[in-house]
Amino acid sequence: MKTRTRFAPSPTGYMHIGNLRTALYEYLIAKSTGGDFILRIEDTDQKRYVEGATDIIYKTLKRVGMDWDEGPDIGGNFGPYVQSERKPLYAEYAHKLVELGGAHYCFCAQKEEDKDADEDTPEAHIKLKDPCKHIPLEEAKRRIAAGEPFVVRQNINKKGTSIFHDVVYGDIEIDYDELDEGVLLKSDGLPTYNFANVIDDHLMQITHVVRGNEYISSTPKYNLIYEAFGWTPPVYVHVPPVMKDAQHKLSKRNGDASFQDLVAKGYLPEAILNYIALLGWNPGDEREIFSLQELKNTFSSERLNKSPAIFDITKLTWMNGCYIRNLSAEDFHKLALPYYNNLSQSIDFSALSSVLQPRIETLAQIPEEVAFLAEVPEYSADLYTNKKMKTDTEVAAKALNLVLPVLESATAWNNEALFETLKGVATANEMKNGQILYPVRIALSGKETTPGGATELACILGKEETLRRIHNAINKLNNL
Ligand code: GLU
Repeated sequence: MKTRTRFAPSPTGYMHIGNLRTALYEYLIAKSTGGDFILRIEDTDQKRYVEGATDIIYKTLKRVGMDWDEGPDIGGNFGPYVQSERKPLYAEYAHKLVELGGAHYCFCAQKEEDKDADEDTPEAHIKLKDPCKHIPLEEAKRRIAAGEPFVVRQNINKKGTSIFHDVVYGDIEIDYDELDEGVLLKSDGLPTYNFANVIDDHLMQITHVVRGNEYISSTPKYNLIYEAFGWTPPVYVHVPPVMKDAQHKLSKRNGDASFQDLVAKGYLPEAILNYIALLGWNPGDEREIFSLQELKNTFSSERLNKSPAIFDITKLTWMNGCYIRNLSAEDFHKLALPYYNNLSQSIDFSALSSVLQPRIETLAQIPEEVAFLAEVPEYSADLYTNKKMKTDTEVAAKALNLVLPVLESATAWNNEALFETLKGVATANEMKNGQILYPVRIALSGKETTPGGATELACILGKEETLRRIHNAINKLNNL
């Protein structure tokens, strides 16, 4: 049988890192075995619905290269793929389930758990012994026909222990007594997650379900529904949460970064995807850098880990640096260009990109790295004193005065030629190379560390600006 997995996000406005990781594992389980990856939008909780959120889901999956085989936008044989468009189906199956003895109609007015707010969190269902369970079915149907509002509530009639297998957690035992007879179909005719997930996963022929381990405790309830209908449950793959630290889950609500936030902070989608793949899965060896294609070839769900992984931004930053360095010069330049907005058009942007690429770990570091190109920052003349370079303000003043006329008459303004020229100045004046190059670099940047050396900076700035900055530096040193 062909593997079929589904990513079933609720459109709540952003792509949580944990959600994206779930999507990735669903995608990899399907694609590592030639199966299909389905996108289903779970929008039955209208209160949490955020306008435009579905678009964010599409864009994010596309941006990281996780193409879906069926979904709301492209259709497929098992649609519709948006839950709110499947309303009649849920009602039909809810009534069937009542007939099969797996659920009952309930007429108690608005119990806590019927409200929209918390229904998607399985823990939210309070244990309840429902008096309506004992209303004869014929009477219940008469009341419904007479227009009385009702919900459909699950029957938990079994006693003893439910046992089911999970790929990550192994065999899990849960006492039937711990399960609540929660609402499956609300009075507005929309299903709760606890019902919709079973109906949809069955009708869409989903073979593997990957989801957060917070759903483990409700899984026996889903299995009872499968059983009542005579359906086979999917393979369960529950994954531990992504943690911020040992105690706290990573959560957008607590200000932790979403996928979009990370991209805005200059992380490459490919690097983010690679990093989150390893949050809960390992290839069984030391490898850490994986493209999506490599993940497809390497992934196996047996290597998913049940202990929660901590999201380590330092590690992601390191990995992002690897990805930046692996980009072609052209691709890096394209990504860097928008960050050069505030710089003068006389700057050689390609030259700038070549010195930045090996140096930065996130694109967001660029503005700070290049700020001195817009304007030399206020700096202390002490910067010219450097033991290793054997320079001080006097050496610097001498060096810059020697360099200025030579650069003024320079015709070839490229790195190699300028480097030879400045070395020539050093040799001709019996000075060390550093005694010339270091002061020039300070004069051009006002900074101790810079992307690129003296002559690279001269190329980036262009002749006119280079001469102007050396001139200003000479004035600064003269006025000490
Ligand atoms: N809509 C659910 C969520 O976003 C999906 C859970 C599942 O994958 O079954 O948490």
